[in-house]
This record gives sequence, structure tokens and C-alpha cells, in this order.
Amino acid sequence: MSEDATPSLGIACPGIARGAYDVAIIGAGVAGCCCARELARTSGSLLVLEAGDDIACGATRANSGIVHAGYDPEPGTLKARYNVEGSRLYPMWAAELGFSYVRNESLVVGFDERDERALVALSLRGAENGVEGLSVIDGEEARRLEPNLSAEVTCALRVRTGGICDPYEVALTALENAVQNGAEVAFDARVTSLERVRGGYVIGLAGGGRVCARAVVNAAGVHSAELHNLVCARKLQIIPVRGDYLLYDPTLGPTFSRTIFQVPTTAGKGVLVSPTVHGNLFVGPSAEPQADADSVATSRRGLTAILEGARRTWPQASSRGVITNFAGVRAKGAGHDFVIGEPDDAPGFFDVACLESPGLTSAPAVAVDIARRVARRLNLGARPDFEPRRAPKRRLARMDADQRTRAMREDPAWGHVVCRCSPVSEHEVVRELHGTLPVLCLDALKWRTGATMGRCHGGFCTPELLRIVSRELGVEPSRVEKRLRGSWIVSRSRPGYARLAAAACDEAAVDVPEPAQVYDVVVVGGGAAGMAAAASARAAGASVALIDREASLGGIMRQCIHNGFGLKRFSEELTGPEFASREAALLDGVDVWSSSSVLALHPGVLHELEVVCPGGARFVRARSVVLACGSRERGFGALGIAGDRPSGIYTAGSAQALINLHGCLPGRRAVILGSGDIGLIMARRMTLEGMEVEGVYELLDHPSGLKRNIVQCLDDFGIPLHLSHTVVATHGAGRLESVDIAAVDPATRRAIEGTEQNVACDTLVLSCGLIPENELAREAGVALSPVTEGALVDDRLETSIPGVFACGNALHVHDLADLAAAEGDAAGAAGASSARSGRVASSDPVVPVEPGPGVRYVVPQRLHGGGCPVTLSFRVSDVARDVSLEAVAELADGGEMTLRSRRARVVLPAEMERLEVTVSPEAALVASRVVVRVASASQKRGDA
Ligand SMILES: Cc1cc2nc3c(=O)[nH]c(=O)nc-3n(C[C@H](O)[C@H](O)[C@H](O)COP(=O)(O)OP(=O)(O)OC[C@H]3O[C@@H](n4cnc5c(N)ncnc54)[C@H](O)[C@@H]3O)c2cc1C
Repeated sequence: MSEDATPSLGIACPGIARGAYDVAIIGAGVAGCCCARELARTSGSLLVLEAGDDIACGATRANSGIVHAGYDPEPGTLKARYNVEGSRLYPMWAAELGFSYVRNESLVVGFDERDERALVALSLRGAENGVEGLSVIDGEEARRLEPNLSAEVTCALRVRTGGICDPYEVALTALENAVQNGAEVAFDARVTSLERVRGGYVIGLAGGGRVCARAVVNAAGVHSAELHNLVCARKLQIIPVRGDYLLYDPTLGPTFSRTIFQVPTTAGKGVLVSPTVHGNLFVGPSAEPQADADSVATSRRGLTAILEGARRTWPQASSRGVITNFAGVRAKGAGHDFVIGEPDDAPGFFDVACLESPGLTSAPAVAVDIARRVARRLNLGARPDFEPRRAPKRRLARMDADQRTRAMREDPAWGHVVCRCSPVSEHEVVRELHGTLPVLCLDALKWRTGATMGRCHGGFCTPELLRIVSRELGVEPSRVEKRLRGSWIVSRSRPGYARLAAAACDEAAVDVPEPAQVYDVVVVGGGAAGMAAAASARAAGASVALIDREASLGGIMRQCIHNGFGLKRFSEELTGPEFASREAALLDGVDVWSSSSVLALHPGVLHELEVVCPGGARFVRARSVVLACGSRERGFGALGIAGDRPSGIYTAGSAQALINLHGCLPGRRAVILGSGDIGLIMARRMTLEGMEVEGVYELLDHPSGLKRNIVQCLDDFGIPLHLSHTVVATHGAGRLESVDIAAVDPATRRAIEGTEQNVACDTLVLSCGLIPENELAREAGVALSPVTEGALVDDRLETSIPGVFACGNALHVHDLADLAAAEGDAAGAAGASSARSGRVASSDPVVPVEPGPGVRYVVPQRLHGGGCPVTLSFRVSDVARDVSLEAVAELADGGEMTLRSRRARVVLPAEMERLEVTVSPEAALVASRVVVRVASASQKRGDA
């Protein structure tokens, strides 16, 4: 890898085409973008100037996304007028522009008689504002509509015209429509001066550029008062008020179908709970006035306050299921109302200022009004060929199988799934890179395509996106930024990266076999477990297909170039790629579908899998399916860390992929959070590549990784391991600059206030655990364990759906590839046998298997008493010394039978334990359950 001279140059922004325009709009938030769309209806020439390197860099990026009905604002205010008009325009704008908008209704809930009086008053105020469809209902009726509502709710205002949207998408589609109709856009164009001259304004830009316009629309959000004050005698004041949010995984999306408000107070609309148009759920916002208009760093206090506030309406609200936290800044005007229109002393200057909530709702109505006024001022006619409809963009995630097949015939890149969570194809990424609006940073791609927004938060797809950007735009990865200037993503890349990326693309030829009529076994996932499953099913005589999304097999092992693999399975110390090629060599007779993603599993008598691959969209049928989809890493958003959201925060697996697969170095000085094995391996790898690793910080009072990795990766390199410490905040607007680290109370596992220390670093690597990747299983209806997050299986590794098996990290997280492969052997053999026998259910009695004292989980969770040996895999809850690990059958008569016990000098949660047991049919008949537990060995000795 070569050190690039200047790590952060950014992707070049196209320049401004002309020196003078009829209208310049300052700010590409939702207000500026909507104004651009409406002004594009006129004959005037139009330029949008945006300080950031994407649209929606201000409040529009981070807000509640609620299209308010309009019952809340004081009658007679601009807020009331534009809110109600805007809410009425939303359905039409959504249809024309193609953004997501759902009229999901809202409930404003109350908890006592005083609240009920407030709700009646709110309903009357709404009627005065012209809002239709308001009714006050009682608590029971409210809970009938929303069963997860608190039992404390006694009354609610039902608002039938409340809606939700994606604010970024509203702004994006409006601006794209404006550009389609002739508007021009300049990013990275911060307006720093405004001078009124005859016939208009001279606009000065940061960096020295100037542009003239006959009229100016000031839509600069929280900075709109500064621009107003440059040209107007009567000054405006904006108080920035930050609001923090918690966003939940889509699995919690269905908790509420309506947006739930609490009775508003003078401080605002309070904490709300709402679904989003993308199927997530969020709670927030807080309301914290702050001096800095641009800081969107969340605070621990704010995050705690919104959870407490949310529990009033949703008592189950907790940090479980949170995938990220974020903040937005409200532009609160000192005058408490919007400031819209032309001030007396600045003709041709139009304010869209102090646009706090309900500004998103109001934006279309404000835009219609502003365009009318500007057109009148400049005497602009109508553009005869204005096209109000924006050409819709196809999305892989929204296509049915026929549409996918057609799309892939047009361009095989539709079949390359870049972001597996959403899913987003390479075609969509490339389309944006050469689309209507320039892409100057990775976050623009994220927001426009949805890539990196899913469960893994970019853990898997960030390196791949970087490669596509580099290839398509011809920029070296070290010039690509996350969002703001200075938010570089990697500090170094291999020489000629962009050229190599383009060449690799030309060479990639994918050979996907035509599906056999019906396979006996289809294995999903070609890592250690999946390859072993496919080979063992084939060895048992089954016809087998092995499907994997990557171009080559091996799963996570492809990037694990260190040794330590294969000691158990091959009695040799191998690297990850070596282990993978040994397993791949055993796949003779297996149809391998590489570069192929399974999007859905439809269980049935014959299971059907929907697959996309560059060759097209296919349906594959199978008698048995083995799920071996591996795991993903716990991402930053799930850790509840407050602060800024700069670049430089990676999961250990992404950092590993960047270095080992892409030849890019993530940074220069790293802190590692969590002592999982991949983090330990990366501590050594980054050190060897010349990075400084400041230390590894672990929340628990014991390491999470294997002892051998602590010794070989930390001790041998002098890297300190700090147990009972965690990161509590991140700092840095562009690139990460430092983290705050606090000591942790081992009893509560909470950070101890007052112990925070600031540690300088430009890279934070997270090694905080793996989560089985189970979306396919979940959507297919497979019952999952809340503890392992993998499937609940029996001793043949069969899930709750007959003929569907699970193994490897998709079932529960393994320490060693060897053990995952051994589980794959078993699952493959069971899949083949089930396919052959036509899924004849076993007549042996079934006994549940459960964790007892000291044990966190056991797999499998049920076993057949058939007299065959079964391996119980489990993890202990805590470090314990001098213990006995026991599997006992509890008998119906209250007694118990020891099935197996083993002494251990020390047991660690980081290391998986195994006990082999055999339950005879006779024992199974009298056993109520099998329990695995940790007992004190000294106690045992005493008993003896
Ligand atoms: C926490 C929170 C929750 C909210 N919830 C809702 C809601 O549910 N419903 C609702 O209707 N409203 C809501 N709002 C309000 C809504 O988000 C805003 O009213 C709306 O997004 C404002 O849009 P804007 O275009 O005026 O400002 P912004 O989105 O802030 O855009 C201003 C743009 O101007 C650019 N800019 C600034 N200065 C310059 C300069 N000198 N030169 C060039 N460009 C410049 C910025 O980079 C930015 O992109 C909420 C706001 C917040 C913060």
C-alpha cells in the first residue's frame, strides 16, 4: 500500500455553468429543493447553491418525518396555514415525484382528565385550522387501535390525516424533478456574502467564487437568519435546538402502525413513537438548545431522556433492538413562527426562514407560494414543457421475480447484490453514480440507494461500495469521503486501485449452472459450515446445490489470512483461505452457484428459493434446505454510544476486508472496542501494516476472545487490554478525532460517571460480538431463539420448519471454523437423509434441552431419545473455576439422571463448551427435560 500524499481531496464537484441566473436558491434542504421544483415551472434560469456535498445536510436529514395534520399550530400563524396546505399537497406530490408517503394516522394520547381537556381544545384548534377527521376517543378504544399502548393512557385524539414520509427522499425527488426541468445544482457552494446591486444580488461563495441572481431564495435552514441579516435591517434570530432519536430494527416496526404523540406542552410536541416508511420504529426527539448550529452529536442525557419519555406511551421501550441514534437541529425562530417572503427593505430576496417543525410538512405549500411571488417579482412566465412527474427509479427490493428477470436481462449488474440487508444491486449504485445529481460522498450513495442502511450498517458493503465508486468515478479510495469535507474513509490504498478495480470488473465472468429440476439439498451460504454441509450431503448420495453471494467460496475465511484454522479438522495449522480451499476441494458433484444471492425461502412440500445472480432471477426447488448464512457483526448503532457520527468507525470485519481484500488501510491510530477474536486479530494486523493501536477496551471483566489470540495478537505486540472499560462518546465532525473512555462497574456493566478519559484516535474498530444472520429464516417463519438469535433446532439440526436445517454461525456463533464445519457435516447428512426419507417424522419421544445455572444457552434445544450420541454445544454465563459441567435428565418423578459430566479447571463465556450425551428411548419417556449446568466441583467433592 502506498501512502497518499493528501488523504482527503474529495471527489471533484462539477463547477457552476454560468455567471448569472434569474433565481438562486440557497440551501438544498427540503425547503430549497421544493422551491426549486416549483420555480422550475417558470421560464427563469435557476441555480441551487448548497454548502454541503449532498442535499439535505441540515434538519431535513434528521427529523421525525411526520406529515403533521395541522391541529397543533396557533390559528392564524404561518405555521398553521402552510401546515394544513402542505399536508393536503403531500399525496399529490408523492404521486408525481414517486416518494414514499403513508397516511398512517396519528394518536395524541393523554393520561388524565386535564389531558383530556387539552385534547378537546386541540381538536377544536385543529377544526379552526381546517383539519378534518379529528375525534377524541377513550383509552380502551386507543388500545384497540394500538394494542402496545400503555395501560395508563386514558384518552386520545385520533388524527386521520396524519402521515409519514422519508424527508431525504422528498427533497431528493423534488430536486431531481427540478433538474429534469432545467435547474442547476452546485454542491460544496457555501454562500458567505450577499450584496444587493441594481437588478439583483451578487452572491459570494466560500473559496472566492461569485454568482449573480435577480432573485434570491434564502432556504439555508438553521443558517437562514445569518443570510437574512446580511441584507435586511430588521434582524432575525434563530436558536438551534437539538433533538436526539433512537431508531429500532424493522422487527420492531409493527409495534405501532400509527404515530403516537403525547399531549403537547409549551416545550413542544414531546417524545413520540412512530413507525417509518421503511418499516423501522423510532422514539424521540429530545429538545436541547445549543450554541453550535451544526453539531449533531447526540448526548447520553438526551438519549436517556427520550427513552424515559417514550415509556409513558410504550412501556416496553428499551435499548434492545436499537440500531442507531442520531440527532437533528431545529431552526427555532425567536418569533415562534415561520418567516416566509420578501422583507420590505430587500426586494428580490425571499426568506424561507425559521422553518422549524412543521417545516417538512409545510415545504410543498411554502414552495408553491414562494414560486408564485418570485415569478411575480421577476415577471417570469410558465415553462411550457414543464414535466411534473419524475421518472420512477426501479429498486431491486421492490421488484417481483418477473421484473427482476427482465432487469437482469437488461443489465446483469441487477443480479449483483451489493447491500445484502436492503437489498441493493450494483446497477442501482452505478445508476446513482452517473445520475441526475452528482455523488460526492459515500453517504449520498447510502441515502439515495439505501445501501449500508440495513441491519449490518455497512459492515459488509462499505468496502464493496468504495470499490464501485473508485471504479466508476476513477478516484482512489483515499479521496472518497463519508459526508463532510475531511471525512476520509481510508488513509492509504494500494497503488493504481481504481485501474485494478476496473480491470477486475472486466474479467469477472460468472458461470451459474441451470437448476436441476429439484435438488435433494440446497445449502445457502458457502462458508466453513455451508461447504461442509454440501460435501456431506453429496457424500450421502444427495443431489446438492451450494449457493453463495460471493464470487468465490469461503465466507468470512476469505479475508482471514492469519493462521489458526484447521487444527481439529485437518490436524494442520492453516490460514482461512487455505482452509476454504481444502473444503472446496471436497465439493465434487455439487452444483456451486457463486455470485448468487438468495432473497427469499418459501417453505413447502418442496421448498422454493428465490435466487438472483448475474445470469438472471431463478427459482430453485429443494427437498431439504440447509441454512448456513453465517453471522454479521454488532454495529456501532447498536452500542448506544452518544456523540458525533464521523468517518473512521469500522467493525473489525470491515477493517479486515479493507486491508486484506482491498489493500486499503482504514486509518493511522486505532482504538479497539471489544475483545472479540476478529478485533484481536485486527490489532495485530493493523500494527503490522504500520498503524498505531492504542489499546483494546472491553466492557466485561474478562476477555471475549480466545486466550491464544490475547497472547499472540496483543501481548506479543505490547498492545494493552483494558478490561471493564468502554467507549462512551465519539468526537469529530468529519473524521474521528477522539473517543471518551470510561471505567465500567463490573456489577452493573454501566459506565462510571466521572471516570471519562479522552483518547485521541482517528479509527475506532468494533469487535463487540457476532449475530447470526437469519433474515431468510425469520421471513420464512423459522422459530428463532431470543438468546442465540439463531434457529431453534433439534439434535438433527432441523428447525421448526420440517426439512429446513441450520448450522454454523447462522445457528449460533462458533469460536472455530473447525467446529462450524463439523456442525455443517451433521446438518448436510441430516438434510440428505430427510430428503431421502421424504421427511418421515421420527417416532422417538422429544425432550426439551435447556440451560441450567451458569449456562447462557444450549444448542440443540430439543432432542429425540433415539439412543444416538448427540453433541450439546453451550456457553457459560460467567468465568468460573474448578467446576463440573453437567448434562442431566430431569425425570417426571422429581429425580434426575446424569447423562454426562466433565470437570473443568476454568470455563469462559468466550469459549464454547461441548458435552456428548445419549438419551435412550426409555430415558426419554420418563425425562421431562435435559438441563446443562455448571456446578462447583469442590461442592461435588464434598458431597462425595
Ligand atoms: C428534531 C427535529 C424534528 C422534526 N420533525 C418534523 C416533523 O416530524 N415534521 C415536520 O413537518 N417538520 C419536522 N421538523 C422540521 C423540519 O425538519 C424542518 O422544518 C425542515 O427540514 C427544514 O428544511 P430547510 O430546507 O429549511 O432546512 P435544512 O434542512 O436545514 O436545509 C438547509 C440547507 O441549507 C444549507 N446551507 C446552510 N447555509 C448555507 C449557505 N450559507 N450556503 C449554502 N447552503 C447553505 C445547509 O447545508 C442545508 O442543506 C423537525 C426538525 C427537527 C430538527
